Amino acid sequence: MTNIAHAERDHALLSASGAHRWLHCTPSARLEATLPDTTSESAKRGTLAHEIGELKLQKVFSGLTARKYNATLKKFKEHDLYEPVIDQHTDMYLEYVQKIVHAFPSPPYVAIERRLDLTEYVPEGFGTGDCIVIGCKQLHIIDYKNGQGVPVPAENNPQMMLYALGALRAYRMLYDIETIHMAIVQPKVWDQPSEWSIPVADLLAWGESIKPIAQKAFNGEGEYVVGSHCGFCRARNTCRARVEQLMSVEDKAPMKPPLISWDEVGDVLRRAEGLVSWYNGLKKLALAEVLKGGNVSGWKAVAGRGSREYADLDKAFEHLKANDIDEAVLYIKQPLTPAQLEKELTKNVYKELLEKPGHIISKPGAPTLAPADDPRPAFSDQIKPEDAFRDPVGS
Ligand code: SF4
Repeated sequence: MTNIAHAERDHALLSASGAHRWLHCTPSARLEATLPDTTSESAKRGTLAHEIGELKLQKVFSGLTARKYNATLKKFKEHDLYEPVIDQHTDMYLEYVQKIVHAFPSPPYVAIERRLDLTEYVPEGFGTGDCIVIGCKQLHIIDYKNGQGVPVPAENNPQMMLYALGALRAYRMLYDIETIHMAIVQPKVWDQPSEWSIPVADLLAWGESIKPIAQKAFNGEGEYVVGSHCGFCRARNTCRARVEQLMSVEDKAPMKPPLISWDEVGDVLRRAEGLVSWYNGLKKLALAEVLKGGNVSGWKAVAGRGSREYADLDKAFEHLKANDIDEAVLYIKQPLTPAQLEKELTKNVYKELLEKPGHIISKPGAPTLAPADDPRPAFSDQIKPEDAFRDPVGS
């Protein structure tokens, strides 16, 4: 078992987590390497959650002593970024791995945080498998994701497929493996992990098919290709190909809405996807540049809207009460929402006290437009014409 401190892991130029990007846009990896790697707070929280998940697996599968486990968990829980929901979610991860392990007729092999050599397929490639379980000609590879923004399905997921190839390379000499089962545990998005299986022969064929693409990506060759894979690219705000594609939407703007067909609406929406977040990201970059003393032609930094706050809240309120201001005026008492209560009470208590007795009514969310390849099922209810937006093309 190889144990790697999560925050200290090296990053390969062609990382497995970025494979969906460099497989589509081969020069992106070299371009990204020229830009600073800024780690967001949610990424740091994800690292902490991974470390807690790893610790829990080690306790159950690697014989970590209760003393060491409790001391390390206590340390993690004192971390600034710790939130109680991480405990619940990593429990779900552990329970899922236990369910897989217990389904075997005899104890399978379990590897936690195994560094995987991917160089047979990707130049200088390596990655880390969160958890690998092998037995009865089956290899399970399980990945924990703490993110909540973008659901990551296991099906045809190149990151998981690369990890699976790395795991095959590591264990094929020791175990006869016929089928690979991949699972992504992403508790903030799905109640159940996303699962997908593939025969070893198909996985190996896929591995062969990506070899020339990976080589091209390693060399920084090929065309810049804009798409949904740009979302987490370090170059997403200033990449010329993306900027040109986003700005080209303007060519369509002068058309009067009634003149464009629904096909064109689809095209414009596709091209404009991410326009607002890209614009905000670019503004943030430009502000940082101006504040550093740089020059962004036609723009300057100004003070934003100010705010008011109490110099000392306790003193201020004591003063108000001493001057006969009623407490009812000073405080708002309002119930927590079901989502907030679930977070406060933990999932199980919330289920027991609120869901089971029928105190919660689940309402479907309002329909929202999504690209055709969005993993969520299409909204099937027909909306009455009078409830629909009126003349969306012409308004
Ligand atoms: S933003 Fe998109 S097109 Fe540009 S380099 Fe990154 S992945 Fe490629």
